[in-house]
Amino acid sequence: MSSKINGLASYIDMVEVDVFYINSEFVIDGTGFKSIIGDKFNLKVENEELNIALNSRSIFTHFKGIVDFGKVLNESEKFVDRSPADRSRATQHHCFEGGWVWLIPFENGITSVGLNLDNDHYPMNDQGAKEEFWTIIDQFPIIKGLLSGKENVRPYIKTGRIQYFNKKMVGDRWAMLPASAYGLDGWFSTGLASSFIAIHRLVDILDNRVFPNKKFNRNELLDYELAMKIEYHHVSKMVHGIYKSFKNYDVFKNYCSLCFMGAESYLANGGAKKGMELSSLLLNAGDSEFVKKFDVIYKTIIELSEKDEVSEKDIASLNSYIREDMVDYNFRNFGDPEMRGMHPKVEVC
Ligand SMILES: Cc1cc2nc3c(=O)[nH]c(=O)nc-3n(C[C@H](O)[C@H](O)[C@H](O)COP(=O)(O)OP(=O)(O)OC[C@H]3O[C@@H](n4cnc5c(N)ncnc54)[C@H](O)[C@@H]3O)c2cc1C
Repeated sequence: MSSKINGLASYIDMVEVDVFYINSEFVIDGTGFKSIIGDKFNLKVENEELNIALNSRSIFTHFKGIVDFGKVLNESEKFVDRSPADRSRATQHHCFEGGWVWLIPFENGITSVGLNLDNDHYPMNDQGAKEEFWTIIDQFPIIKGLLSGKENVRPYIKTGRIQYFNKKMVGDRWAMLPASAYGLDGWFSTGLASSFIAIHRLVDILDNRVFPNKKFNRNELLDYELAMKIEYHHVSKMVHGIYKSFKNYDVFKNYCSLCFMGAESYLANGGAKKGMELSSLLLNAGDSEFVKKFDVIYKTIIELSEKDEVSEKDIASLNSYIREDMVDYNFRNFGDPEMRGMHPKVEVC
């Protein structure tokens, strides 16, 4: 069925648009942070109503003609031969106390550049987006050198807190994909993995239970919702820990491997090949032993971030936990100083 509508907006006034009504037995909300079903049913929770510690915001824009980061590093005596990997070919993360900078090069010569800031360290303020962006970038000579004088090809955008969550993520005849259901932070790049994993689960439930039995009620989908809620809390803690680890390089160096241990142990347990199983979740959030050990480290990271000084003993103890207590999840010698931060890929599944 279709109907003609006029006069909704000036563009629509001019062209007269056909609106199609589509009948469907089931709706999947893949509208990202707009979460149209969340808006319709007033399910969205934001800002201080959120019950997670992770609290970050962004300022971002696009630049044209940013030079090769590897070249810049090799021109500096301090950093020459720092790493055998070409750092300009993929997304770069540059971190500092209270935040990090992303550089995402597109194929057309434009680079997305953004600051993600811990609201505990950089509380929201009245500064304009561009002014605050450069106030922070000016403190970091290498990044400043990469961006200064480059053509800026879109307005600077300054967001509020970027985390959000929907109280319900499934309902009678509908389900949200992860990016509609909740949002956390770009660190650890869990976005697409969470989408693929969730789609796999949803297809499993829809194809094996919901459609064959013609049972479209919310109850049939509760495991799918629970999986996303557990992942939301687990990943939020992992990323919150990262922001707090930025204060001390040795803490960061040891802690940043936790995400890889979570992803690789999930895969080693057959994760990507499973359907709806609550024991098999993003970054190994469904493995209670892993979660127990991760919680010990997370607590330690928060305690260390509250100290004025971190001792060598503190770092040694963190390092030994990662190398010894977490050995069952540590497939790439994370924490071994001999590796100099380069941990080649190994086949784990
Ligand atoms: C700066 C940045 C860096 C990122 N880096 C990574 C990374 O390195 N790795 C990774 O895995 N993930 C990354 N992500 C996350 C990743 O982009 C998301 O997880 C992914 O895009 C989610 O896919 P999606 O299709 O579910 O939602 P989206 O990509 O958000 O797509 C939703 C679509 O719905 C459309 N829409 C919204 N409302 C309506 C409406 N009413 N009617 C019709 N259409 C509508 C939108 O226009 C949009 O096209 C990053 C995100 C950002 C912002």
